[in-house]
Amino acid sequence: MAVQTGWRWCAFCEGLFFSGNPSQGACPGQKFGGIRLPHYQGRSGRYAADWGEDSGSQQGNWRWCQKCQGMFFSGSPNQGVCPLDGQAHDGSQSGHYAILWDNGLSGTQGGWRWCRRCQAMFYAGNPDQGACPVDGTHDGSASGAYAMPWDTTPPPSQLDFDTGYIAFPNGVPVGGFAHLTLHQDGTCRLNGQFHDSGALAYNDELVWVVKDCNNQAYTFSHQGNVAGTFESGSRDDIFDVTVQNTTVAQQWQALVAPGWPISNWQANTNVDLGGLTNSVLTAVGAVAAVVAVIV
Ligand SMILES: [Zn+2]
Ligand SMILES: [Zn+2]
Ligand SMILES: [Zn+2]
Repeated sequence: MAVQTGWRWCAFCEGLFFSGNPSQGACPGQKFGGIRLPHYQGRSGRYAADWGEDSGSQQGNWRWCQKCQGMFFSGSPNQGVCPLDGQAHDGSQSGHYAILWDNGLSGTQGGWRWCRRCQAMFYAGNPDQGACPVDGTHDGSASGAYAMPWDTTPPPSQLDFDTGYIAFPNGVPVGGFAHLTLHQDGTCRLNGQFHDSGALAYNDELVWVVKDCNNQAYTFSHQGNVAGTFESGSRDDIFDVTVQNTTVAQQWQALVAPGWPISNWQANTNVDLGGLTNSVLTAVGAVAAVVAVIV
């Protein structure tokens, strides 16, 4: 049977949600200033959902809600309550999913339940029964026992980013390139080169931002100098920095979540590095926290 990877458990609401879209949905367990925050997958294992309708050991009629990204049962007349807006879930854009009736065969995790109040799939194996958009906690008292298959495909252990050739506007005679590599063990390497083919010297600045699925942004910067034709000093600024960062290692699953990370870079000459950093951070959209990996 075909499966779809990218499903995650949210530690704040116990719900099952699809993490492969730019939107991480709406979490019934997290609200800030009256607005629902997205689901959180930072502590989740990786799940795969089966495509299809009922077979002997499965129940069909499960759908993905395009509003909250959650998995819900659409086989009842009542389409539940969506944490995004308090209205019914919307499965109109969803494929058909079939969920295993089981307490946990090998390769799956048991303990999943259907909430009779909001129709969502949630994990009931923790003391905390999560957060239901109706109110209080999810209610699995009327549910059968469900199991979710683990996603066994290996996530990438390395991420590579390239600038391609960097040219500067306004006739600045400096060019270059840079490369950024992140490894699962937290090793991060930023390397590259700028070259000055003109008469005047320049400072060169480069900032790279990589953002994980929890909107945590990691910054990698370089600042150097290239000399002009009639000046002492090198016309080339060659850089190659490797650091070890524990946050990158700890948040690896969030960095390699399906559809992630988001990255952006900017380079310039004779500008303030802090201002350039803020400019790239703005370009990657909402940022919850910033980790300066290479300063
Ligand atoms: Zn949630
Ligand atoms: Zn929904
Ligand atoms: Zn519920």
